Amino acid sequence: MTDNLEALSGLIKKELENYEDKIDVGDVGTVVTIGDGIALIYGLKKVMMSELLLFPNDVYGMVMNLEENSVGCVLLGKDSLIHEGDIVKRTHKVVEVGVGDELLGRVINALGKPIDGLGEIKTTSTRPIEMPAPKIMDRESVNTPLLTGIKAIDSMIPIGKGQRELIIGDRQTGKTAIAIDTILNQKDKDVYCIYVAIGQKNSSIAQLVSKLEDYGAMKYTTIVCAGASESAPLLYIAPYAATSIAEYWMLQGKDVLIVYDDLSKHAVAYRTLSLLLKRSPGREAYPGDIFYIHSRLLERACHLKKELGGGSITALPIIETQAGDISAYIPTNVISITDGQIFLSSDLFNKGQRPAIDSGLSVSRVGSAAQYKSMKYVSASMKIELANYLELLEFSRFGSDLDKTTKDILNHGSILMEVLKQKQYMPLSLSQEIVDIYIAQNKLIDDIPVNKIHETLKRISEYIYSQKPEIYELLENNHLLDDDIKNKINECVLDVKKVII
Ligand code: ATP
Ligand code: MG
Repeated sequence: MTDNLEALSGLIKKELENYEDKIDVGDVGTVVTIGDGIALIYGLKKVMMSELLLFPNDVYGMVMNLEENSVGCVLLGKDSLIHEGDIVKRTHKVVEVGVGDELLGRVINALGKPIDGLGEIKTTSTRPIEMPAPKIMDRESVNTPLLTGIKAIDSMIPIGKGQRELIIGDRQTGKTAIAIDTILNQKDKDVYCIYVAIGQKNSSIAQLVSKLEDYGAMKYTTIVCAGASESAPLLYIAPYAATSIAEYWMLQGKDVLIVYDDLSKHAVAYRTLSLLLKRSPGREAYPGDIFYIHSRLLERACHLKKELGGGSITALPIIETQAGDISAYIPTNVISITDGQIFLSSDLFNKGQRPAIDSGLSVSRVGSAAQYKSMKYVSASMKIELANYLELLEFSRFGSDLDKTTKDILNHGSILMEVLKQKQYMPLSLSQEIVDIYIAQNKLIDDIPVNKIHETLKRISEYIYSQKPEIYELLENNHLLDDDIKNKINECVLDVKKVII
């Protein structure tokens, strides 16, 4: 077989050389085999890794394997249009994507082409989809918060601009919901958002886009979509292309939030490609470089130093676990690459604790350095209190005779858990979050029945808005929680409680 192929390639080269002197045989190859979106090509002696190749019928491919006698190429279009013996040309370019503000409000595929039916996108610049991550010396530490608008996250697992925070959990535990709420919360905050949908149903992406439109979030958002029906190569390149778009903005000094939903499907797409390219399988049949494909992607998220514009990319990769197993191969890889994880528990979700954040398994390694002082102050002991509560809860199941201290801890814990419940599409402002957590943490509403907590918080919030709006204004603008504000909040709570109780 190989002898035949070599003879064939030799013949073709000779023919081409004789045909016209000017043609460089290194620039032209022939398709030897084609199938499953992979083409094996002879010729193309000088081709680069990741170079874009042009097949007949305007189909493009990307070089992924450079072997001694052949080139392995993944097709970025339909493989039914390509046949054995077809001529392949080099383009001398690596795969690129259009970048710029024109992409805001649009839904594009992994190659940057619009798929929302709103017409052509006229970008003026392009950027290769793979770029080296910014150097350590070009980076600044994470020092500005990126607020999600979700009480449980902003208080206990704070995220900073330039951070990479993993959202991990079983299927249907509210992973996408957290990412979308975070995007909604960036409204009027001068943060551009990119949502990369990998391997999802087109119907769910359409729903998501219409939700973002309803809440006015598409103005500052780009959706990069490689749906479940698309080929593995497009699923594979989508996050890299999206990151290049984000990088363009970051280099202009902008803050960008990018969500990869989800990298488990991305890993599966890459495994498919690797197996088709006949690379040897390793653990769980993933190829040996599966760690590297995610690390080189997430390393590109950072906070640039002031001299370079001070822009940032905050990455929220999502990973789906099976039966809560965070020690599986891909989850452990991505956990070790990121700066922390938000772990969503299906147990909590089914018990109605939504967002179902497991405060014990969730952590943010760099975000607390960026947290506002006022938020840090009100939420300081929250994680420990919740851990205490959950531990006592287990024990209290054995006996009904509990002393007062234990009862108080249990009651306070259940109120705290209730306060942390939050509906979807309702991100809160920083000041509202601080007031809610301050009230709960200072046990100001421990005497209210758990099922009345949300109504009480709502009334307090309305009361503050109408009677003492300066509380919210000061907290929002100065991030300051001094004794004066604390006293004012205490008074408001007392006033409202007089009416309720
Ligand atoms: P998948 O594994 O299918 O991607 P997921 O983990 O991304 O799922 P979502 O799609 O975000 O989960 O949410 C699952 C369901 O839970 C949805 O119907 C969503 O509306 C609901 N949900 C998510 N968060 C909340 C919340 N805070 N309050 C109420 N319902 C919620
Ligand atoms: Mg989801």
